[in-house]
Amino acid sequence: MTMAKINGFPVHATITLDRVIVGVDQHNRFLDDVGFCLACGAEADGCEPDAERYRCEACDAPQVYGAEQLLIYLSV
Ligand SMILES: [Zn+2]
Repeated sequence: MTMAKINGFPVHATITLDRVIVGVDQHNRFLDDVGFCLACGAEADGCEPDAERYRCEACDAPQVYGAEQLLIYLSV
């Protein structure tokens, strides 16, 4: 998979479309709010599906995006 970029920032290599789809699925089935940090690849809880630029608890970068939002970006 080629390195994707969102809003000009490279997406961490560990954030794959498969992983994002699992996150969206978790939200749909268990109402888990899953997000991912573009900077370090960490998974974030309590992240609305359409979240953008939330601060990452792991690396402090404002690069956490909701799973559904990422799916939109990654599938275009
Ligand atoms: Zn991070």
